[in-house]
Amino acid sequence: MLTTKPRGTNDILPGEVEKWQYIEKVIREVCQTYGYREIRTPIFEHTELFQRGVGETTDIVEKEMYTFKDRGDRSITLRPEGTAAVVRSYLENKLYAGTQPLKLYYIGPMFRYDRPQAGRYRQFHQFGVEVLGVHSPGIDAEVMAMAMEVYGRLGLKDLELHINSLGCPQCRPLLKERLQEFLQPHLEGFCQQCKGRYHRNPLRILDCKSEKCKQLSEGAPTTADCLCPSCAAFFDEVKRCLDLLGIDYVVDKNLVRGLDYYTHTAFEIMAKGIGAQSSVGGGGRYNGLVEACGGPEIPGIGYALGLERILLAMEQQGAEFPPAWRPDVFLVTACPEAEEEVYKLLADLRELGYSADKDYMGRSLKAQMKYAGKLNARRTVIIGENELKNGTITVKDMITGEQEEIKREKITVLLGGK
Ligand code: AMP
Repeated sequence: MLTTKPRGTNDILPGEVEKWQYIEKVIREVCQTYGYREIRTPIFEHTELFQRGVGETTDIVEKEMYTFKDRGDRSITLRPEGTAAVVRSYLENKLYAGTQPLKLYYIGPMFRYDRPQAGRYRQFHQFGVEVLGVHSPGIDAEVMAMAMEVYGRLGLKDLELHINSLGCPQCRPLLKERLQEFLQPHLEGFCQQCKGRYHRNPLRILDCKSEKCKQLSEGAPTTADCLCPSCAAFFDEVKRCLDLLGIDYVVDKNLVRGLDYYTHTAFEIMAKGIGAQSSVGGGGRYNGLVEACGGPEIPGIGYALGLERILLAMEQQGAEFPPAWRPDVFLVTACPEAEEEVYKLLADLRELGYSADKDYMGRSLKAQMKYAGKLNARRTVIIGENELKNGTITVKDMITGEQEEIKREKITVLLGGK
């Protein structure tokens, strides 16, 4: 146990972590392009926030949360998603009193007690955005365009944007009625959970992961069949804005999304060739959420992209990552007397912003060169008796193998400006 990580978690090791840093960098660049500011909320919140904010009948709340009592006997939950916490923070900090809309983003770990498999983990990472304070088809199209831009800048191809409208509280009663009518004759065949959902929230049944439930609900009436005129017009306008922005999409009437608070636009992005867990991101409008969390009636829309799945898709599609990080210089101490000079030069180079390193293991000259090679250093700088005597350093280019002795001051010229 001591040397084994909990099931469904991952170590991101050096070598791999650079890929993550790259993805995060691209995400932050896109956020800047679109005018979104970062928000950081706690990793854990009061359990009630997710019960209310994600929805009592969702898979997340019913079976996937990491919930525990803290020492003060409060029920705490590790965040399974980002939206509820952003809304909580929006209300707590009265961000609604400032200029609207508020465009926010976050990047961080989420926790769900899911069945681990390729692309599905118990601790995973999401990049997400939330736009609060605006109900306009244009912003719905913008957030989708922005998600697609992230994938595009990361070099991902063959993605499909699926969109649907889930309607509003006005269209729901009709949908609920028609769904119950359709499902009633097959009710016995559904899983225990879906039987419970039949009365409380039959729409949830369409999102059940069980194969049997999926089969039984095939052909069921969809949200799109029951839209009120205003929701239908809003959805048409979202599609028009997507067309204007040049974003391709597929209307998918069966798209439900796993969270209770969605209204109007819902969307999901699928990547081909990454296995069963093909959803690389999804989101939607949640006009009822702020109120459900105890705030005023404020509309919102957001999405979350899974970083593990983005990485998986990038690797599978052979997308390019920046070249691996390497130190600019490795300083080789060729005789004990050179140590003082090596330390001084090391400090100088680091102060100038170069990535520089030395040996701390008492390695021989040959072993230091070998170590510099393992670190993939761009150059080595060797200081020994001769160099001390001449006030020089010997620089070896580790790519070409060429070596030259230069005045110590010349080193920055050789390395290029920083
Ligand atoms: P959701 O919050 O369920 O809408 O998920 C948004 C995105 O997060 C999905 O499209 C996945 O890319 C990712 N995701 C959700 N659950 C997991 C998980 N257990 N492991 C890895 N990625 C996940």
